[in-house]
Amino acid sequence: MNILVINCGSSSLKFQLIDAKTETLTAKGLCERIGIDGSQITFSPAGREKIVRQAPMADHKEAIQYVIRALTDPDTGVVKSLDEIGAVGHRIVHGGENFSQATRITPEVKQAIRDCVALAPLHNPANLIGIEACEAIMPGVPMVAVFDTAFHQTMPPEAYLYAIPYRYYQQYRIRRYGFHGTSHDYVSHRAAELLHRPYDDLKMIVCHLGNGASVSAVKNGKCVDTSMGLTPLEGLIMGTRSGDLDPAIIEFIANQENKSIDEIMTILNKESGVLGLSDGLSSDFRDLENGSEEGARALKAFALRTAKYIGAYAAEMNGVDVICFTAGVGENNVSVRETICRDYLGYLGVRIDPEANRKRGEEIEITTPDSKTKILVIPTNEELAIARQTYALVKE
Ligand code: ADP
Repeated sequence: MNILVINCGSSSLKFQLIDAKTETLTAKGLCERIGIDGSQITFSPAGREKIVRQAPMADHKEAIQYVIRALTDPDTGVVKSLDEIGAVGHRIVHGGENFSQATRITPEVKQAIRDCVALAPLHNPANLIGIEACEAIMPGVPMVAVFDTAFHQTMPPEAYLYAIPYRYYQQYRIRRYGFHGTSHDYVSHRAAELLHRPYDDLKMIVCHLGNGASVSAVKNGKCVDTSMGLTPLEGLIMGTRSGDLDPAIIEFIANQENKSIDEIMTILNKESGVLGLSDGLSSDFRDLENGSEEGARALKAFALRTAKYIGAYAAEMNGVDVICFTAGVGENNVSVRETICRDYLGYLGVRIDPEANRKRGEEIEITTPDSKTKILVIPTNEELAIARQTYALVKE
């Protein structure tokens, strides 16, 4: 069965068509600048050259129409008709406390996603538009929602509550939710497989280090803590997001520069992280390795913050068996991995194998056989995880 995986942003739509039985990618692509001048679709059928087309898309419904047209094109497509698409898996950013696993989309599920809009004002409306666009164009095709927050719903209250008046949790559900759950779920399961150990008998720390970055602690098969909070702004230093900071900084900047909360939130989300630390050099980790003082400063701070979370989670789980690196930086950035492991993890008995650590983008153990704690690099595959969860719900 072919599963169409859809990931809708406010002005973009990423998609993959995956054969769920063989777990192979049939095609993937991206619609960009939806609702803006100059929109285009990039379509990459597996094993063939990618096709980029200018395509006016006023909204996500038109974008989905282009996706279907690309998939079914008689010359360059990969399926004959819509009938060959068995189900659609939608990546949904925020499921609040309502969803601890993937679910078939019903009117009630859509309402629950709508109820979480205040928690993810940029993402959930786009996700809903994507669902409704697919429902309109593919009536009768089962749809599944896979939530970024679901994996973290097993956290205990002491991990998810903020130390603010409890009524804010009761009234507005202000708490830590965590994101990148599909990735943490996929990578932690894969780590157990690679180690030939039962999933529910391991203490694992997963470092998802990409443009957005988060760490999670997975103990005995359950997520017990994660670094992102009510929103994806908390925790690690990211490409452009600050991660943790003293909340009083917001008031300080507001007073000094006469800025509104909205303006400061834009600074913290879009102008901070390694971009801010490197004085505007770049949010892309590759550009930071140019030998400059600014780049080095950002990289050192990023490595330290990540190491602090690893230390905190090792303490929280009273030990750690395996630490996993994943996502763009975790899979590819050799020096960041080396700094974290060499400078900060010796006390956990980590012994890095420099030869193995030189590898990029592949599943590999980067510690020596006598290393007390193992370090694995595991490329994440959120789309495959979404396709698997979708298939599991619709195959009967
Ligand atoms: P997201 O999905 O959150 O946008 P990614 O997981 O794709 O982000 O990660 C993007 C980051 O990964 C960029 O900062 C980029 O520099 C880094 N990255 C990707 N490929 C490489 C590579 N080959 N070497 C070093 N860094 C890389």
